[in-house]
Amino acid sequence: MFEKDIATPSRTKALLNQYGFSFKKSLGQNFLIDVNIIHKIIDASGIDENTGVIEVGPGMGSLTQQLAKHAKRVLAFEIDQRLIPVLDETLSPYDNVTVINQDILKADVANEIETHLQGCDKIMVVANLPYYITTPILLTLLEQNLPIDGYVVMMQKEVGERLNAQVGTKAYGSLSIVTQYYTETSTVMTVPKTVFMPPPNVDSIVVKLMKRPHPLVEVDDTASFFKMTKGAFAQRRKTILNNYQNLFVDGKVHKQEIHVWLEQAGIDPKRRGEALSIQEYARLYDELKNLSHLKF
Ligand code: SAM
Repeated sequence: MFEKDIATPSRTKALLNQYGFSFKKSLGQNFLIDVNIIHKIIDASGIDENTGVIEVGPGMGSLTQQLAKHAKRVLAFEIDQRLIPVLDETLSPYDNVTVINQDILKADVANEIETHLQGCDKIMVVANLPYYITTPILLTLLEQNLPIDGYVVMMQKEVGERLNAQVGTKAYGSLSIVTQYYTETSTVMTVPKTVFMPPPNVDSIVVKLMKRPHPLVEVDDTASFFKMTKGAFAQRRKTILNNYQNLFVDGKVHKQEIHVWLEQAGIDPKRRGEALSIQEYARLYDELKNLSHLKF
């Protein structure tokens, strides 16, 4: 069976005309019109006929179509109701796709996986993400402890560089720590603006995040660990001593106590948040538990 590719300028334009569809910038609608890029994304994701795929924002189905050809099942969440009839048409040749008309941030993803991706050996998220909510989407999915093995996702280049950043670099921050805590990150490719309709204002990158068998460091409460790491970056130019002093807002904690905490963990209080490795943050977190009066 030969199905016409959706990811071409002519097919996309024809669908836009047929449905009288106009792009909503507020929903991050930049559709892919280059099937070669899609093939590279699929190659990088390593999906096969036993893989279940979750897609965020199928748009008109350009990526979904190719995913459907390679994967066992595809579960796609699309917020824009206007796209549902378009997807009904474009994906009609594929009986292994389920489109859910819902905001991914409000969806019960665990339940949908259970319902639609049963029997898949592996589950990957593969998507050209809506850029305005890249970070909330990734954090929501990562922090829910879902049975997802990895992510191959397109996003704004700047955000991708933050996910992937090494300690000591400008891009390294609380987002790098959360993603690297859960996953091993790598860059697949940078992507030119010309492969989208309409072209976005920013450069794009495809990033691969593979879930680690065990998180990078051991902490008992991830929410409070991430709150602590985030606190170190509240004002990037400040030392961790100053940032943490502002974080313990109850007014009862003195600079001296924070000094003691940092020194006991073997961390020079004059260092900045971006200079500390995730292992060093884990040490700080362990030490914090010995100082019961210091609480976030
Ligand atoms: N996958 C298509 C492609 O590559 O051509 C479209 C990608 S476009 C960058 C992002 C898509 O995400 C749009 O279809 C948009 O309507 C959808 N979207 C935006 N916010 C969403 C949300 N919160 N939940 C689900 N889908 C969303």
